[in-house]
Amino acid sequence: MSTVQAPPAARELILRLIPQLSRFEGSDLIVTSPTNGAELARLRFDTSAEIEAKIAAAVRAFEVWREVPAPQRGELIRQFGNKLREHKEDLARLVTLECGKILEEGRGEVQEMIDICDFAVGLSRQLYGLTIQSERPHHVMQENWLPLGPVGIISAFNFPVAVWSWNSCLALVCGDSCLWKPSEKTPLTALATQALFESVAQNFPGAPEGLSSVILGAVEQGNQLVEDRRIPLISATGSTRMGKAVGPKVAARFGRSLLELGGNNAMIVTPSADLGVAIPSILFGSVGTAGQRCTSTRRVLVHRSLIDKVFETLKSAYLQIGSSKVGDPLDSSTLVGPLIDEMAFDGMQKALDAARPHAVEIVGGQRVLADRYPGGFYAHPALVRLEKQIASVHEETFAPLTYVIPYDTLEEAMRMHNEVPQGLSSAIMTTDVREAEYFKRHSDCGIANVNIGTSGAEIGGAFGGEKETGGGRESGSDSWKAYMRRQTSTTYFGKDRPALAQGIRFDV
Ligand code: NAD
Repeated sequence: MSTVQAPPAARELILRLIPQLSRFEGSDLIVTSPTNGAELARLRFDTSAEIEAKIAAAVRAFEVWREVPAPQRGELIRQFGNKLREHKEDLARLVTLECGKILEEGRGEVQEMIDICDFAVGLSRQLYGLTIQSERPHHVMQENWLPLGPVGIISAFNFPVAVWSWNSCLALVCGDSCLWKPSEKTPLTALATQALFESVAQNFPGAPEGLSSVILGAVEQGNQLVEDRRIPLISATGSTRMGKAVGPKVAARFGRSLLELGGNNAMIVTPSADLGVAIPSILFGSVGTAGQRCTSTRRVLVHRSLIDKVFETLKSAYLQIGSSKVGDPLDSSTLVGPLIDEMAFDGMQKALDAARPHAVEIVGGQRVLADRYPGGFYAHPALVRLEKQIASVHEETFAPLTYVIPYDTLEEAMRMHNEVPQGLSSAIMTTDVREAEYFKRHSDCGIANVNIGTSGAEIGGAFGGEKETGGGRESGSDSWKAYMRRQTSTTYFGKDRPALAQGIRFDV
């Protein structure tokens, strides 16, 4: 149990963002900051009856909201985006305090919410369907996109608010209501976001009560959403282990799931790569966010002709970062904050132990700053040079741990690249257009970048991955279609007896 109390400034920040914090206080969960293990709040989980009431309210809210014209629904999101702009700094600080990412990235996370609001507002005047040419005279065929129902959103700790906004902003303009079960490691940012949303929704004509609600809890509470037939879509972000539990349960009740699961992302560095472009991309991708992004660079596959140079350059950067850039995520000179908890640090050590007998060289990996922050788990980013991919490399280690592995031919690199069970993000560093196109065609990931790292996507594209990453797509492009149901409608406007499709005659 944590005994260190958060400083008064942290408490003030929390109360500024969640004025009604006392409503959620209890003894089920001690929320601590990964920065130093200090206690931020004690919360209670929603009971099963409370979750039931929230689901029933979301169903009622959906019945009302679906009738509101989509551009008006967009107006709510426009106002919410403005509210986020007003509170960007506070919310970013709370993100940093609760999940440990550096403040610059906390701000980036809130900016991502604002960006998706803007995107959703524009979308609210689109949500286009098709008109289709009919084979019969005086018939018109249309594809209509209709609101789907209450959407269950289960989110992970590492993007505690942005991923919710990718889902909810689109779902809300599509005419759905939302139920959000945030990670039990980051419930305060969820309560803060919900309070900001409510402050807008309560004054918005036509926005029903229960349009968006938060359910506090862990696996059991998330599971109540997963098993409820009134929720046609479960959008779940987290580990592959979670997806394996959630996916079949939703499928068993013929619901839809949108799964955004683990990654094991690689970058290929070819002989023609511009290392001035490649090295900074590898560094941000592998040590940024303390390696706790689903898109973090886990594997760097380097052409044998460059491996010594790349490894030595990375090694000196890692040593510099490890000695002077790991620290308090609120400090502007810090580049790498803490890991979320001790379990994450232990996972990193386990992966390092598995690699040790095979490694040509290992840089970093040890705990740092334990004297200053006994309750925080800070790691010196680890770089592991291997001769080939070993079994443990196939698993996602959610920490700043990067494997550097040589290859001889691009075909061999591609084979190694695709060999892992996950399929989220990928990158190639090359100045050869043929290599770039070969890579895009052969990467089995949902994201394939050229001369850009694996990490740090813009909201305009569809985000998600294949294989054990779950197949879901969120955010930009036509991801909105996941939050609506498609209806094909044929209308006959002639006066004669209507013709049957395929020329079938049925004369009575
Ligand atoms: P996690 O799987 O431990 O938890 C994620 C969420 O799922 C939490 O809210 C948790 O309470 C809930 N949950 C877990 N098991 C459940 C079950 N059986 N039923 C219902 N709910 C359940 O993940 P985490 O540690 O919070 O996040 C890290 C993982 O998330 C990494 O694997 C990372 O790659 C992945 N992630 C993926 C994406 C993506 O878009 N692909 C984005 C962010 C994080």
